[in-house]
Amino acid sequence: MSDKQKRFFLSEDEIPRQWYNIQADMVTKPLPPIHPATHQPLKAEDLYPIFAKELCHQELDTEHAWIDIPEEVRDMYKYYRSTPLVRAYGLEKALGTPAHIYFKNESVSPVGSHKLNSALAQAYYCKQEGITNVTTETGAGQWGAALSYAAKVFGLEAAVYQVKISYEQKPYRRSIMQTYGAQVTPSPSMSTRAGKDVLTRDPNNQGSLGTAISEAVELAMTTPNCKYVLGSVLNHVSLHQTVIGLEAEKQMEMAGEYPDIVIACFGGGSNFGGISFPFMRHKIKEGKQTRFIAAEPSSCPKLTRGVFQYDFGDLSGLTPLLPMYTLGHNFMPANIHAGGLRYHGAGMIISQLLKDGYMEAVDIVQSESFKAGLMFSKCEGIIPAPESCHAIAATIREANKCKETGEEKVILFNLSGHGLIDMTAYDQFLAGSLLDFEVTDEEVAKNIAELDKII
Ligand SMILES: *Cc1c(COP(=O)(O)O)cnc(C)c1O
Repeated sequence: MSDKQKRFFLSEDEIPRQWYNIQADMVTKPLPPIHPATHQPLKAEDLYPIFAKELCHQELDTEHAWIDIPEEVRDMYKYYRSTPLVRAYGLEKALGTPAHIYFKNESVSPVGSHKLNSALAQAYYCKQEGITNVTTETGAGQWGAALSYAAKVFGLEAAVYQVKISYEQKPYRRSIMQTYGAQVTPSPSMSTRAGKDVLTRDPNNQGSLGTAISEAVELAMTTPNCKYVLGSVLNHVSLHQTVIGLEAEKQMEMAGEYPDIVIACFGGGSNFGGISFPFMRHKIKEGKQTRFIAAEPSSCPKLTRGVFQYDFGDLSGLTPLLPMYTLGHNFMPANIHAGGLRYHGAGMIISQLLKDGYMEAVDIVQSESFKAGLMFSKCEGIIPAPESCHAIAATIREANKCKETGEEKVILFNLSGHGLIDMTAYDQFLAGSLLDFEVTDEEVAKNIAELDKII
């Protein structure tokens, strides 16, 4: 084993020059997003007040399979890409599985997660358009950190609304954003109408991603030269993340293998889409029999227990209506440590692919995810982000199945980030004080019933 290659890298020249837009190849295209006021299918122009124009066009592009990565963005990718593809020999051995397990290590980006891949692209397009300010929301702080750094790189001011409970409980993430020069505001705040509304009703409100999105969107719509940027869910975000899967495809080839199963954790779908879509194109176009598994938390089970419905992306109903698997925009997930997975819905491309049977989803309770994360840390040395632990747990489940059947399946999962700023969560797990949260059928049904009124 010792003479076998463990990590696979690409040269700078081999870093992808284009992102892959799976919308162009999908047999059934996603239903159109709907304008919240007119209830007509959305046009790119409708999105101009909120997002940079180029991103609006990428969002709705169902024609072009390949989109050029701007040279300025690709130049920034060179600082940390290609990310390594690693054969997890340690994990395989500990599990005693015949499966071959590979992971794509996105935790090596300067901010510690895959989120920088899209933050750089979005900041670049804003700069190109003459925008001076960008605003966004962040929960756990991973996206806020990525955006803060990307904004600095391209000379933009960043204003980040951070969910209040995270602002208070995860001070290091706030420090990271401030270190990059961003202005960070705990949400709900009195600086927007959306924030004021929430605080008037409930002065002790601890905030949610939905409220923080409403605040950021409102700021973008009311401030000249300011655009809103989003770290997940939307099509253009998954598009930028396909750099992960495109690299992995070449690296798997270097390893002389092709994945039977591709796994990623699932918040809004960007890291899942990023690693999956390039491989899925061979399933769509050539009928390759790869399985794709999205691993979501049991406390926020939109893919496994939500409904396919038009719903808002935020709490206040400011965003377009998107056709997606959702638990309802009023759904309040339990306060699990994998903050990046606490989102009520799923991206519309992924929702359509799940509906059409191209992929599967599994739900994982918090304790199983951390148990997997701990095992991975001991075998591979990298402490995974609480979000990524869900992908590892799903991988271990599949590897254990291979152990039972004796099948030498090739499993590829995405390590979306490291957990070095999430050690409080590991502390709680080690102390045995971590709670598991399950959602009752009644809760799901109640939220979804409210959805019927929307459209
Ligand atoms: C944000 C985040 C996620 C979840 O977001 P997706 O858009 O579903 O990828 C997963 N892992 C890490 C490390 C994150 O920061």
